[in-house]
Amino acid sequence: MTLFDSPAFDAHEAVHAFHDAKSGLKCIIAVHSTARGPSAGGCRMWAYPSAEAALEDALKLSRAMSYKNAVADLELGGGKAVIVGDSRTQKTPELFEAFGRAVDAVCGRYWAAEDVGVTPADLAHARKHSRYVAGLDGHPAASGDPSPVTAEGVFRGIRLGVQRAYGAGLEGLTVAIQGVGHVGGLLADKLHAAGARLIVTDVNEASARAVAGRTGAEVTRPDAIFDVHAQVFAPCALGGAINLETLPRLKARVIAGGANNQLASAEAGRALYEKGLIYCPDYVINGGGIINVAAEIRALDRGGAYEPAWVEAKLSRLMQTLDEVLQRSKDEQRPTHEIAGEIARARIAEGRGASAHG
Ligand code: NAD
Repeated sequence: MTLFDSPAFDAHEAVHAFHDAKSGLKCIIAVHSTARGPSAGGCRMWAYPSAEAALEDALKLSRAMSYKNAVADLELGGGKAVIVGDSRTQKTPELFEAFGRAVDAVCGRYWAAEDVGVTPADLAHARKHSRYVAGLDGHPAASGDPSPVTAEGVFRGIRLGVQRAYGAGLEGLTVAIQGVGHVGGLLADKLHAAGARLIVTDVNEASARAVAGRTGAEVTRPDAIFDVHAQVFAPCALGGAINLETLPRLKARVIAGGANNQLASAEAGRALYEKGLIYCPDYVINGGGIINVAAEIRALDRGGAYEPAWVEAKLSRLMQTLDEVLQRSKDEQRPTHEIAGEIARARIAEGRGASAHG
């Protein structure tokens, strides 16, 4: 199969591959759409088993960014970068400087920020070579790590889902969290403060233990998280957590978490709906982080400062959109991911129309 025939390709505008022999950088920058504005999305560093796996991840994540940015009503298109490598052992300042040069070569059609395996400190090296790097610390426009805003959006989204499924608040409910890194860890703190009980897992056991130490969470094995008794399942690790194998094992009636690309397939989305579960679509509930990054891009473009009030207004509006998606799913008896997809595609098409006419 060629790149253009791959199901993940989905009419990407551009796919760039970069190699820097000196630093060892191997990265892909995928630009799915610039219909609503320059594309923006995080950079993931992961030890992909093959170049094909890296490419597929970049394409799927970049397309999801188009949808996420449209649903959050940002003047941004969708793009994503992946760096092939182990973030625990292969990070160097030179690698991220080379990444900055790669971002700059895309000439402003892609804005980078952090994703799994990449921190604001890493991006500071990239920023030396390109202005198209956001999610940084230490300047007036800087928005910092997007994870706290992502976690806040996921927390509010869980509250909406729980209200609809159980007609109750979070007090005394059990939430199972898969992956307690940046987003999952902060989410655990918020849920704990709201009185929820937690069951957590992480392939990095030390992360799970640390969260348990401060929240009283029960720790379980990564594979056992699908079988626990919980009212909410919050995927906060990597993609594909919801598939035809894991779905029958889940006891929760609400699926709401921070991870990107939670549904392994559209079939899994349908099956989930037919099982009577409420799914908060990933690119809707986890849009807080890119809203925060957009605030930095906006401030840089205007020569102004980061505005928390703008972020809060966008996040509140996003949560209204999530509530509308859940309501329409009930009224129209259709899966939430189909409804959210329609909203996103309509907004991307509007952007395309606007750019074609002026
Ligand atoms: P992170 O790397 O800090 O956390 C991910 C955690 O998941 C790690 O602790 C990792 O050990 C764990 N993990 C990986 N595979 C696992 C498995 N099979 N079972 C259990 N644990 C596993 O990353 P993050 O920034 O917290 O992002 C988490 C997810 O949220 C990713 O899918 C990311 O793309 C998405 N996301 C993040 C943000 C953000 O602002 N950070 C925004 C939107 C979406």
